[in-house]
Amino acid sequence: MADVLDDAEVTRILAIVAHPDDVDFSAAGTIARWTDAGIAVTYCVVTDGDAGGSDEDFPREEMPALRRAEQAAAAKCVGVHDVRFLGYPDGRVEATLGLRLDLARVIRQVRPDRVLCSSPERNYVRAGISHPDHRAVGSATLDAVYPDARNPFAFPELRDREGLAAWTVREVWIVGSPSPTHFVDVTATFSRKVAALRAHESQTGGMDDLEERIRERLTRMAELAGLPDGHLAESFQVLNTG
Ligand SMILES: [Zn+2]
Repeated sequence: MADVLDDAEVTRILAIVAHPDDVDFSAAGTIARWTDAGIAVTYCVVTDGDAGGSDEDFPREEMPALRRAEQAAAAKCVGVHDVRFLGYPDGRVEATLGLRLDLARVIRQVRPDRVLCSSPERNYVRAGISHPDHRAVGSATLDAVYPDARNPFAFPELRDREGLAAWTVREVWIVGSPSPTHFVDVTATFSRKVAALRAHESQTGGMDDLEERIRERLTRMAELAGLPDGHLAESFQVLNTG
């Protein structure tokens, strides 16, 4: 297991992901544990997931509002009430300076001890984890954590025009990493994770075996973590960025 901050030392956590539902598939069980412990969790979702869903008859222009509403409902299932959207176009996210600026702004506004984000690395075992938007958001988030958010001379407009002081994030938890270093037992919060996933009706409504699929995946993680039979775990690569 990696050396990680004790949750008792953590006041605020910011999860930065590409699409509505990313944080729920990867980490909702862990997030429920964090909010139960009194930690304030904020979501920053870079796109509105407007290229999502499979119903070709659903009016595409209504998809962003629907997916924002679904994400807000999913967040409530695990105790998160602060959900922010950046409105980038789904499927076309790149790790630009503009995205780094936007993420450094959110980091300086929220001032989190811990940031959660997707992996910039390609996972060759499970292709779906490595959606190009996930990799771009992971890369831009790590750059925003170091150096942009903590360097007062990076993006000086944040300080000079918006009054946002530099902020150092102490730790980053990466989801979907090919090399997980840390596992969280989510057996007790699994039902809330499933409820959060079901809140993304436009994405998961047709998945009759959703709970079973998620249970299988988390069982494998619990086995990797050496937890007793019947337990479920989510996995992370934890970086010390203090
Ligand atoms: Zn995604």
